[in-house]
Amino acid sequence: MRYEGTIYRPPGEWRSYLLQVTVGCSHNTCTFCNMYKDKRFHIRPMDEILEDIRMARRYYGDVRRVFLCDGDAIVMKTEDLLTILKALHDAFPSLERVTTYAGPLSTLSKTPQELEALRRAGLARAYLGVETGSDALLAAIHKGVDARQMLRAGEMLRQAGMDLWVMVLIGLAGRGEPSRRHAEDTAALINRMKPRHLSALTYTSVPDTPMYEDILAGRFVPVTPAEALEETRVLLEKLTVEPLHFTSDHPSNYVTLKGGLPEDRSALLGQIDAALRGERPVRSERSRVL
Ligand code: SF4
Repeated sequence: MRYEGTIYRPPGEWRSYLLQVTVGCSHNTCTFCNMYKDKRFHIRPMDEILEDIRMARRYYGDVRRVFLCDGDAIVMKTEDLLTILKALHDAFPSLERVTTYAGPLSTLSKTPQELEALRRAGLARAYLGVETGSDALLAAIHKGVDARQMLRAGEMLRQAGMDLWVMVLIGLAGRGEPSRRHAEDTAALINRMKPRHLSALTYTSVPDTPMYEDILAGRFVPVTPAEALEETRVLLEKLTVEPLHFTSDHPSNYVTLKGGLPEDRSALLGQIDAALRGERPVRSERSRVL
C-alpha cells in the first residue's frame, strides 16, 4: 500500500494487488531502459512488507492476484520470499496466483529446488525480459547474461512449474541485416526455452539512456515502422514453440497483434501485411511509449 517511486507492472497484471518487495532493479544497467534509474536498489524490510499486506487486506479485502514489484523480486532470499508468499495466502484466502518479474542472473543464483519451493508456495508466473537471442546484442545492451545463460534461466523457471512469460524487444538491433538476424536469433532461443507466453514490445528511445545518446550521436539508427513490422513478421514465421500465447499489444508497438500460435499465425501475418500495405492504422511515433 506504500510505494516508493514509479511502479511498473506487466499489462496483464492490471487487476493484481501490487506489493513492492524490492525497490528498483538489482541489475539496472540495460542500455535501453530507464525504468528504475531514479531508484537506489534495495530490498524492503520484512516488517514493512508484512505490514503492507495487512494494510492491503483491510483496504482491498480478499484479492485473487498479487504482483511482486519492482524489477526483480526473485533476487530476494528464498526464505524471505517464502515468508511473503505464506503471509499473502494467509491474508487472502481467495488468492489464486502471485507473479513477478524475474531477472536472469537472480534466477540463475537459485537452485532448481528453491524455485520449485517458490512455485509450490504460490509463485505461479514469472516474467522474464529476454529481449533478444543474440549474444552480441545481449552484450551490447549490457543485459548481464549471454543467450546460453538466458536460456538456462528460462528453462529453470519453466521446469520449476512456473507459467513463463517472456518479453522480447523488436528493433533492438537497429536497421538492415542486424534486424533480421535479431528476429531469427530470438525465435531460435524462444523455441528452445518454450515459454507459454511471449510479448514482443518495440524499442522506443528513452531519454537519459545510453541508447538514446547513441541515437543522438548517430551510432544507432532505429528501425522504421515498416522495418519493425518486417522484423515482427520474421519472428512470427520462425517461432515453432506451441502452444504460444503471442502478444504485441504494448503501447510501444506500431500495430496491435494478439493470438495463439500456431492457429493464429496466418491471421497475424495477414494483419502485419495489411499494415505494411497501409490498410491498417499504425501507431504514431508520438504516442509510442516503452
Ligand atoms: S530492462 Fe529490466 S533488467 Fe534491464 S535495467 Fe530495466 S528493469 Fe532492469
